[in-house]
Amino acid sequence: MAVKNNLKKDFSILITGTGFSGICVGIQLKKAGIHNFKILEKANDVGGTWRDNTYPGAACDVKSNLYSFSFEPNPNWSREFSAQKEILDYIRHCVKKYDLEKHIVFNWEVATSIFHEDKAMWEVINTRKEKLFANVIVPGNGPLHIPSLPDIDGIRDFKGEVFHSAKWNHDYDLDGKNVCVIGTGASAIQFVPEIQPKAKNLYLMQRTAPWVLPKPDGEFTSLQHTLFEKIPFVQKLNRDFIYYFNEAQVVGFMYEDRILKLGEAIGTRYMKKIIKDPTLRKKLTPTYRLGCKRVLMSNNYYQSLAKPNVDVVTDGIVKFTKDAVITGDGKQRKIDALILGTGFHVADSFLFYDVHGRDDVQMKNAFKDGPQAYYGSAIHGFPNMFMMLGPNTGLGHNSMVYMIESQTNYVVDAIQKMMANNIRTVEVKEEVQEKFNEEIQRKLINTIWDSGCKSWYLSANGKNHTVWPGFTTEFRKRTKTFNMNDYIVEKEIVKKREAELV
Ligand code: NAP
Repeated sequence: MAVKNNLKKDFSILITGTGFSGICVGIQLKKAGIHNFKILEKANDVGGTWRDNTYPGAACDVKSNLYSFSFEPNPNWSREFSAQKEILDYIRHCVKKYDLEKHIVFNWEVATSIFHEDKAMWEVINTRKEKLFANVIVPGNGPLHIPSLPDIDGIRDFKGEVFHSAKWNHDYDLDGKNVCVIGTGASAIQFVPEIQPKAKNLYLMQRTAPWVLPKPDGEFTSLQHTLFEKIPFVQKLNRDFIYYFNEAQVVGFMYEDRILKLGEAIGTRYMKKIIKDPTLRKKLTPTYRLGCKRVLMSNNYYQSLAKPNVDVVTDGIVKFTKDAVITGDGKQRKIDALILGTGFHVADSFLFYDVHGRDDVQMKNAFKDGPQAYYGSAIHGFPNMFMMLGPNTGLGHNSMVYMIESQTNYVVDAIQKMMANNIRTVEVKEEVQEKFNEEIQRKLINTIWDSGCKSWYLSANGKNHTVWPGFTTEFRKRTKTFNMNDYIVEKEIVKKREAELV
């Protein structure tokens, strides 16, 4: 990225979050010669979702050679699919290497953001009511961090231990306990095999059977490590291979669902190989098309469900009492602990943010028909705000880090252009945003995500405001440069800075 010399020096930027998004924007701003930014972090460490999700077995289901920054390969990944700790260490390494720590304000949890039109500045207020001001804000909170807690009759009366997968209580010993797990999504299939050997009984409450494929995982050999280190091109080739292999799945998801039959056959065969009990097999057989919900991969999930201390319960939870769970078949199972693998608020996450745009319109009231943005980043009515991983940037097939790098190109280009041209505000045109979202929704029709299952990709209105419907190469191409013509641009020069960054 070329460093421009004529950039306005007092132009300020506030980024939220030190996950992959916030760190990527910080690094690229620095590479562009922009240093007047802060990254606001609610916790006392970096890492975002890879800091918060410490549940046993937490790992990435995208291969690490791809699930990492293109500009910062790590030749030392221990295995194909790295575990949480290694990914967190990688993020910490990036923070150190790119000298970002001095930009990070730890223990600074954003509560409210208000756009002041007269000053063309964002006021960002934390939970202690402290304030910071900036020309541009870049919320990089991530779409998977507000735990979704089920509202089941009596759940608050349960007196045992209760925690969500993203807030794992490592002090609670599951040894010899009767444990109830709700959920069979990407998180649960990773922690269930880890806790099964400890639990006396594990009652797995399954609402929908997921598709689970074998995970092509393995440790890297020392020869591979040496090759990656000494000949970076080898690692780049490996990365490209993984990327294009994953990318090819879009053809099945969007255009030719007969391709998915192959994946379904692999999943069914794999399940039948591990699960011998026909009743359990029936319970574990998915009743929707592969890809409609996130496709899962595991080499130990089915194996753990076949163990005698595991009961896969599909009768639905009716209620909780102070020490038991009662299911639709009338059975009462005494339990000591309840673990919620119930996922996150994704499509409705915007309801949780107190963001006030132009004319004091709150984000939760800004959308007529579900959340929408332009390239998942700019929102009409919210000038000078560029979200990371906003609506319709999610993927079911490839690395989110790729999407983050694409969006970062766009955001940094926007900021550079604003700084170079003394631009006061940029706000995506309403008609541009509308047209873009009509295109997105049109493309989603008849895709696999529209094939009838109930997934967290869908909003309450049944529309998919989560997934990018297409190849990520297209997203990369379209976000390469920030096109001013798509925006209402106010060129007036801000003469005086109204506030300083602390
Ligand atoms: P999830 O995929 O949304 O799964 C939530 C599970 O809880 C589903 O099985 C859901 O059932 C069930 N559930 C929710 N509310 C329920 C209720 N009231 N009663 C019964 N069951 C209920 O959540 P997650 O497993 O935490 O994963 C979320 C996302 O995080 C993933 O899709 C993925 O994008 C990401 N993730 C990624 C990795 C990775 O390796 N990269 C690992 C973990 C998570 P239904 O299916 O019937 O709705």
